[in-house]
Amino acid sequence: MLNLVLFGPPGAGKGTQSNLLIEKYNLVHLSTGDILRGEIAAGTALGMKAKTLMDRGDLVPDEVVIGMISSKLDNNSNSNGFIFDGFPRTSAQAEALDNLLDEKGTSISAMLSLKVEDAELIRRLLSRGEKSGRADDQDESIIANRINEYNTKTAPLKEYYSAQNKLSEIKGNGTVEDIAEKLNNMIDTL
Ligand code: ADP
Repeated sequence: MLNLVLFGPPGAGKGTQSNLLIEKYNLVHLSTGDILRGEIAAGTALGMKAKTLMDRGDLVPDEVVIGMISSKLDNNSNSNGFIFDGFPRTSAQAEALDNLLDEKGTSISAMLSLKVEDAELIRRLLSRGEKSGRADDQDESIIANRINEYNTKTAPLKEYYSAQNKLSEIKGNGTVEDIAEKLNNMIDTL
């Protein structure tokens, strides 16, 4: 199996690149942000609780997202592999993911980490907010909170994967095609 963690701050381009990678490598895309927005759209109790946190740019509790990923892994047991997008975001999530994959006799192949400057992230998110109407993309203080959550709780996961020799860092600026090519080259060496 090819199991990739696509990593980087909000606005780094994880969703865009995931969509290209799932086609090319025939993988299942697991985006916790997309799954949570699906719960909100469906009006579930979980979605309603998550919405308050997401609208503020805070993280949703670990047990909620770990439970969601666990059931998605169970439901896609015949896949070629997974792209984890926006997950794991904390060390508890990273450890839980390793355990879940281990139970299935597989593991993370690599973490591909996209690096983009803060000013560019803010520009991209505000522009996405104008088009999508996503509340958390429309307010600079919420965006700043998300970047801060990333820097304090999520970025340290680079050390976690680096200790397993699985970290590859890629510059996330340039065209979508340029970045896709860099990711493909990296994956083809795995
Ligand atoms: P982005 O990467 O652009 O911030 P996402 O769609 O990945 O967008 O996440 C949107 C929001 O969903 C986050 O700010 C957070 O509130 C929540 N969320 C998504 N994934 C997780 C996760 N793995 N752990 C905790 N909260 C999450």
